[in-house]
Amino acid sequence: MKILITAGPTREHLDPVRFLSNRSSGRMGFALARAAAERGHEVTLIAGPVALPTPTGVTRTDVVSAREMLAAVERLLPAHDALVMSAAVADWRPKRNSPAKLKKAAMTPVLELEPNPDILAAVRDLKGKRLFVGFAAETGDPLGEARRKLEAKGLDLIVANDVTLPDAGFEVETNRVTLIAKNAAPVPLPLLSKYEVGLRIVTWLESACSL
Ligand code: C5P
Repeated sequence: MKILITAGPTREHLDPVRFLSNRSSGRMGFALARAAAERGHEVTLIAGPVALPTPTGVTRTDVVSAREMLAAVERLLPAHDALVMSAAVADWRPKRNSPAKLKKAAMTPVLELEPNPDILAAVRDLKGKRLFVGFAAETGDPLGEARRKLEAKGLDLIVANDVTLPDAGFEVETNRVTLIAKNAAPVPLPLLSKYEVGLRIVTWLESACSL
């Protein structure tokens, strides 16, 4: 299978040195890319700004902003059988991105924002028979919210996790997730390394692809 994976945060600059971003380290997406490549799949990884080495056998494209990530997904998706959006895409960007560093005296205490595109929604028309997998990092009622996002974003599978748990979510090596496929009961997984969670997602993709 040819699998396209996004990972890490996006950065939304307001000038060359300042940006809005989030706590995503990219570990989950990179572990998934490694697991998929080791299982013999052709993997393309679109990475936001992260400090991680490229897994062996994986083709990597680096991006900074949500709009750059969307452009990369649009360009690469047609050559792939599955899209896994593990990136934590920033929902908002500063309305103005100054090419020169803003002077403190020229700045206002209120930052004007505008919404970023939802990448999954933007590429929905390109889905066809491709498998789409999303992630739902939640701080309350992870399963209810994830089920809603599965429907709203037209996904085949959503990986839900409660990012308030100390051993799950951002920056740690482990994750505690529930896999929720369309028309199926949720499958809660035990505490696993992100690599093992990646393997479970790859196994799900392999079985869904052969249906
Ligand atoms: O709505 P929420 O951001 O929680 O949805 C999470 C899922 O949607 C993730 O798979 C994420 O990569 C994807 N997403 C996206 N474009 C955005 C925001 C999130 O594709 N602008």
